[in-house]
Amino acid sequence: MSAKFRQAPRRQRVRQALVLLSFLLFPITLNFLSPYLIVAGAAEGIITGSFILFGALFIGSLLFGRLWCGWICPGAGMAELTAPINGAPFRSTRADWIKWAIWAPWVLLIAALAIGAGGYRSVNPLFMTESGISVDEPVKYVVYFAVVGLFVSLALAFGRRAGCHTICWMAPFMILGRGLRNRLGLPALQLTTDPSACVRCTSCTSTCPMSLPVSALVQTGRIEHPECILCGTCADGCHKHAIRFAISRPASR
Ligand code: SF4
Ligand code: SF4
Repeated sequence: MSAKFRQAPRRQRVRQALVLLSFLLFPITLNFLSPYLIVAGAAEGIITGSFILFGALFIGSLLFGRLWCGWICPGAGMAELTAPINGAPFRSTRADWIKWAIWAPWVLLIAALAIGAGGYRSVNPLFMTESGISVDEPVKYVVYFAVVGLFVSLALAFGRRAGCHTICWMAPFMILGRGLRNRLGLPALQLTTDPSACVRCTSCTSTCPMSLPVSALVQTGRIEHPECILCGTCADGCHKHAIRFAISRPASR
């Protein structure tokens, strides 16, 4: 067994540790990911912590795509915990559109409220989180458990990362960012592939947390898909080393 092969699972263990830690910290960070606080802030003309985070996710996705989803998001920690119970692939690609049906009216509401408030006039990252901790009183655990319960229930009922596919309000910011990057041809972190090394064992397809047709994508020379979260599970599991991280420009279209 080569040193290179032994190193690969370690990267996944680091990733899993990071997302589990993020999930443990979710009672502290909940408000900074909140789809409600950005709405409440817009009504008062205040740029909130979640506004700043969502903006950072969009800008960060120009270079890092959906790396957040694979390596940092507390939802990824929930996905790691539910996968051993229901690790079935999430097969409905049409359901990926549900999150856009949630996201579009939500963004329009935020814009309308901000315009109605006369525009943004102040910045308060700790808006409605003055203590710095999101769940700072018992009643706020109702919101916490509602969010966790929703993501966990979807994963248990419909398979791997069903919530990421269907209801995540943050994913569209990053999908739009990586789409813009591709249009502009900007260099970014991506997964490139070596089709000639691939023996089509489909191990990468069966282990992809986002249930993508990875083996087929490998034949195109890169993993280019809006639902790819750059978790690297495919790259680290490929015994032929046919997939690797690289900074590269998108393929010309
Ligand atoms: S795991 Fe590697 S060799 Fe197997 S199908 Fe995927 S890219 Fe090809
Ligand atoms: S294609 Fe690879 S990097 Fe992308 S989500 Fe699937 S396993 Fe992760």
